[in-house]
Amino acid sequence: MSKLMSLIPSQVKAIIFDLDDTLYDCSGTLVLKSKELAATIISKAIKCSEAEALKLQLEFEGRLGPKADIVREIASLHNLSEGFCTEVSEAINDLNLEGTVLFPDTMGSINELKKVGYKLFLVTFGAREMQEKKIKVLGLEKAFDEIIITENPRGKEKCFKEILTKYDLEPKQVLCVGDKIKDEIEVGKRLGMSTALMKHGRHYHFYKSEIIDEETHIHISKISELLENSED
Ligand SMILES: [Mg+2]
Repeated sequence: MSKLMSLIPSQVKAIIFDLDDTLYDCSGTLVLKSKELAATIISKAIKCSEAEALKLQLEFEGRLGPKADIVREIASLHNLSEGFCTEVSEAINDLNLEGTVLFPDTMGSINELKKVGYKLFLVTFGAREMQEKKIKVLGLEKAFDEIIITENPRGKEKCFKEILTKYDLEPKQVLCVGDKIKDEIEVGKRLGMSTALMKHGRHYHFYKSEIIDEETHIHISKISELLENSED
């Protein structure tokens, strides 16, 4: 294995990647499109413009964070029925993923890391059907040694442990790359892995003030930064 890779500790043999906002811009594309779809329904339900309905959602998210159920918050504020929530979630499930692309450097970096000899994994949280569609549209189906989807918001720790066991890896031989400080970076660190925080998207920006020990993580804003040579 090449020792030129400055950011990746030399004992690392495997890399676990997150998907959304790590390998492609989820916040700026699909999340925004979902809010636009929701806005058409919200605007009718509370009699405002679609632009106002979009702004309302963004305000709620700015206050309550990316994990809040914004639609339910709006429903309760305006006394809207359960049917309203269902209508919005059905519209979002029909979200057209076409045109969703990886960050420009993602595929090249993955291929390079693979070529150098790292085992590569994708561990992603979300509704299985939606995550499978994203993986297909992004052309990632064959990019990893294994892809694991968890539908449990706290499910990544179990997935990480499964990878350690199945591939006979020690935690220190693994680098965990993701944008969520609580859900993957701190989990990886707690297990004894190296961690790289992707500084992108709504989760990173909302939770960045909660980073406890900044120096313990590698900070990147592009996957290709992992490949940068310190001697350059
Ligand atoms: Mg993510």
